[in-house]
Amino acid sequence: MDSQQFRDFGKAAIDLVADYIDNIRTRDVLPSVEPGYLVDSLPENAPEQPEEWQEVIKDFTELILPGTTHWTSPRFHAFFPSGSSYASIVGNILADGLGVIGFSWLASPACTELEVVTMNWLGKLLGLPEEFLNCSPGRGGGVIQGSASEATLVGLLVSKDKAVRRLTKINPSLDEAEIKNKLVAYTSDQCNSSVEKAGSLGSMRMRLLKADSDGRLRGATLKKAFDEDIAQGLIPCYVVANLGTTGICSFDPLYELGPICNEYNAWLHVDAAYAGSAFICPEYRHLMKGIEYVDSFDFNPHKWMNVNFDCSAMWVKDSSELVKAFDIQRIYLDDIKTDTKIPDYRHWQMPLGRRFRAMKLWTVLRIYGAEGLRKHIRNHINLAQYFTKLVRNDDRFIVEPEPLMGLVCFRLKGGDKITKKLLDNLVKSKKLYMVAATYRGRYIIRFAVCSRMIVKEDIDVSWSFIKQEADVLCNGIQ
Ligand code: PLP
Repeated sequence: MDSQQFRDFGKAAIDLVADYIDNIRTRDVLPSVEPGYLVDSLPENAPEQPEEWQEVIKDFTELILPGTTHWTSPRFHAFFPSGSSYASIVGNILADGLGVIGFSWLASPACTELEVVTMNWLGKLLGLPEEFLNCSPGRGGGVIQGSASEATLVGLLVSKDKAVRRLTKINPSLDEAEIKNKLVAYTSDQCNSSVEKAGSLGSMRMRLLKADSDGRLRGATLKKAFDEDIAQGLIPCYVVANLGTTGICSFDPLYELGPICNEYNAWLHVDAAYAGSAFICPEYRHLMKGIEYVDSFDFNPHKWMNVNFDCSAMWVKDSSELVKAFDIQRIYLDDIKTDTKIPDYRHWQMPLGRRFRAMKLWTVLRIYGAEGLRKHIRNHINLAQYFTKLVRNDDRFIVEPEPLMGLVCFRLKGGDKITKKLLDNLVKSKKLYMVAATYRGRYIIRFAVCSRMIVKEDIDVSWSFIKQEADVLCNGIQ
């Protein structure tokens, strides 16, 4: 393929994506294909001879699109939003055009420095304390990880390394393997699956402590767990606080957990994967009260800030802890040493290679501006409030807990069985996509406002599907 063919292929692809997005409401949000549909449709072997790009576009349209779940559709209310925008797509094209792997400064100075700049911009927009920022005098800084899952694991691995260093310094005769065996991580039973997985991947026992009836991990619960474990000869090491849980979007009180973690030398990481984006709006920052106690904080611009996957923004107060844990030298990795605070990002993450992710964050921040992004967040929260009103006006339903962000949880008063049936039928219809959670032991349906394009009329359409299905169920017509 030469550059002229690339221009033609690329323009055709951009037109295709623009048409797809313009017409997204005409498609069912869930595809009507059976498992194996694509495996059976595509050749068993890669083509031996080059093919024309037009053939690829044709197969994309005829084979790939019909098997796609439309995450950007206004009828998509499952999980949390998957960020996507034209600004981000173009940022990705530009980054892919450069094709750099920016693991050290010289490997691509622009890749590293744009990440430093955009993470400073973003940290300031969120109102993070200065000590988290690279532009502050201390050792703080931000890095873009591939996912919140990775950020949680990075935090865990660093906390483990730090604990071993701290304890062997106090008592050099201690055995490293023995210390590691005694370390414990803590989070709440409301945590995302990825948090629990970090415990398995990082070989640290992880306790899922019982959240209170509002889904929040309380300070007294954490302190009790620390004391119990210390009495058993174990060592509290790592705590993951959840700001915006996946199930019901509850917020752990950092102001309770933080002082306890600091007192017991446990690393406190915040998983704010979804809700962190809302902190660009000052009216939601009270939900991160206590942030000054935190060691690392992560949220996903690839969820609620219109940046395409993958872009997970992580800040640490003391980046030297990351470097101590992850710095492995090789002669071929020797880089120019500067006395500036420019990081070698390979020491801040798990892989060696790294994409130019800051480019799409940069294009989004510039094309939307902070005001545009705040408008997007507030619009979603207002639409969630609007949906809440619609559900509450129908006395067959209950909305709980009280929605704070763009997630509304509801159920039928008739109980778990009929609520589950309602969700099953809606998903089967392929018109709406939602998933379930539990709240105070009850089965609930999660309705997340997700699409960047969503407007009030879309909420009306989604509600009309839910209502119609409830009519059928509640009247006993199957
Ligand atoms: N944490 C929370 C609260 C989430 O809701 C999610 C995903 O929805 C994750 C972590 C995992 O995010 P990622 O896919 O970026 O690892």
